[in-house]
Amino acid sequence: MAKLIDGKLIAKAVRDEVASGVKDFVARHGRRPGLHVVLAGDDAASAVYVRNKEKAAEEVGMAGAVHRLPASVSQAELLELVQRLNADPTVDGILVQLPLPKGVSSEPVLDAVDPAKDVDGFHPVNVGALWTGKPGLVPCTPRGCMRLLHEAGAALVGARAVVIGRSNIVGKPMAALLLAEHATVTLAHSRTRDLPGVCLQADVIVAAVGRAKMVKSEWVEPGAIVIDVGMNRDEHGKLCGDVDFAGVEPVAGAITPVPGGVGPMTIAMLLDNTLRAARARL
Ligand code: NAP
Repeated sequence: MAKLIDGKLIAKAVRDEVASGVKDFVARHGRRPGLHVVLAGDDAASAVYVRNKEKAAEEVGMAGAVHRLPASVSQAELLELVQRLNADPTVDGILVQLPLPKGVSSEPVLDAVDPAKDVDGFHPVNVGALWTGKPGLVPCTPRGCMRLLHEAGAALVGARAVVIGRSNIVGKPMAALLLAEHATVTLAHSRTRDLPGVCLQADVIVAAVGRAKMVKSEWVEPGAIVIDVGMNRDEHGKLCGDVDFAGVEPVAGAITPVPGGVGPMTIAMLLDNTLRAARARL
C-alpha cells in the first residue's frame, strides 16, 4: 500500500514557515509584505479562490488588498491598475485572477505585471529564468508538487519522471523543475502515443490533465510515486483527481489524495512566492 503524501499537513508547515518569515521581514523592514489580487468580473469560482487567497495572506500576517473591477472593465483600465501596482513600493506580489472578462485578453495584462512582483510566475521573464536556471518566481502549483516530492523522500537524480499535461501553468514548469533536479523527464500530452506504456516506465508520475480518474493501476510501475494535480468531478459529482486513486494506491510507492494533496500546496506556495518577492526586491 502506498504512503499517503499529506498535502494539508505539508501546506500547513509551509504556511508556518512563511508566517515566521513575515515576522522577521516586519522586524527588519518595518512593514508587512503585500499581496495584491486583481479580480475582474463576477465569476463565482474566481471569487471563492480569491477569498481563500486573501484569508490565507491575512493568516500569515501579510498586508494587501483585492482590487475588484466590474465585468465591463476595459483592457486600458486593467493595464492602468497593473501599472499603478507595479509602481507602488508597498506592493510585493501582484496576482491577476483568471479568467478575465470577455473582451479583455489576458496576455497583455499578465505581461504588464512587473516580473519581480509576478507571484504566479507566468511572466515570460520568469518562464525564461526557470528554463535557463536563473533566479525568478516559479508557478505555485508545480512548486507545491516539488515540495511534496521532497517531503515524500523521492530520489529524483536520474529518476524517470513522466508529466502528463503540457500547460504553461502546470505541466511545462513541472517538467522544468524536475529537469533542474536531474530527473529524466518525459512531457506527455493528448497526442502522446501509448501513454499507459510511457507511464509504466516512470519512477515518478505527475498527472495534470483534467480528466477524472484517467491514470489506471496498469499504468503504474509498483513503487512509483504518483502526484495528482487534477481537480475534477466524478460521476457522482464528487471531487476527484486525474488518477484512479482506489486502483493506483495499492500499487504506488507514495501517492497524493484529491482533495488534500496538491490543492492546499498551491495557496501555500503563493504566500511563499510573495515573501520571496518581498525579500528579493529589498
Ligand atoms: P489544461 O491547460 O487544460 O491542460 C491539460 C493538458 O492535458 C494539456 O496539455 C492536454 O494536452 C493534456 N491532455 C488532455 N487530454 C489528455 C489525454 N487524454 N491524454 C494525455 N494528455 C491529455 O489544464 P491545466 O490548467 O494544466 O490543469 C490540469 C488539471 O489540474 C485540471 O484538472 C486543473 O483543474 C488542475 N489544476 C489544479 C491545481 C491545484 O491547485 N490543485 C492548479 C492548477 C490546475 P494537449 O496540450 O495536447 O491538449
